Amino acid sequence: MAGHPDPRFLLGAERQAALARIAALRREFADIVTAAAAANGDDEHDPEGATIAFEREHVAALLGQARDQLGEIDAALLRVEKGSYGSCVRCGRPIPAERLAARPTAVTCVPCAGRRSR
Ligand SMILES: [Zn+2]
Repeated sequence: MAGHPDPRFLLGAERQAALARIAALRREFADIVTAAAAANGDDEHDPEGATIAFEREHVAALLGQARDQLGEIDAALLRVEKGSYGSCVRCGRPIPAERLAARPTAVTCVPCAGRRSR
């Protein structure tokens, strides 16, 4: 596979995947809330309660991540429109195509990403 694939195609696919993930997590979250409501009716000190609380926080965290991802994808699509997509936001050099193929929302080149300690 040579050449540059249209970033909008990749980003569009990523966006669909992120939206599907968010929808699935929302359903999961709703199920947990329903289960929690049912469990609370029985016994407040049910050990299930702690598991449900943990599950709920876990799903909420995943949902937050998926939303962040969607935000990154939308920001990348905006950069495509502005014509700044594919340029490192730190040094301005082009981001290698392989990196963009692996991570279409990348905003920095590899050396700049490495310098940023996360
Ligand atoms: Zn850079």
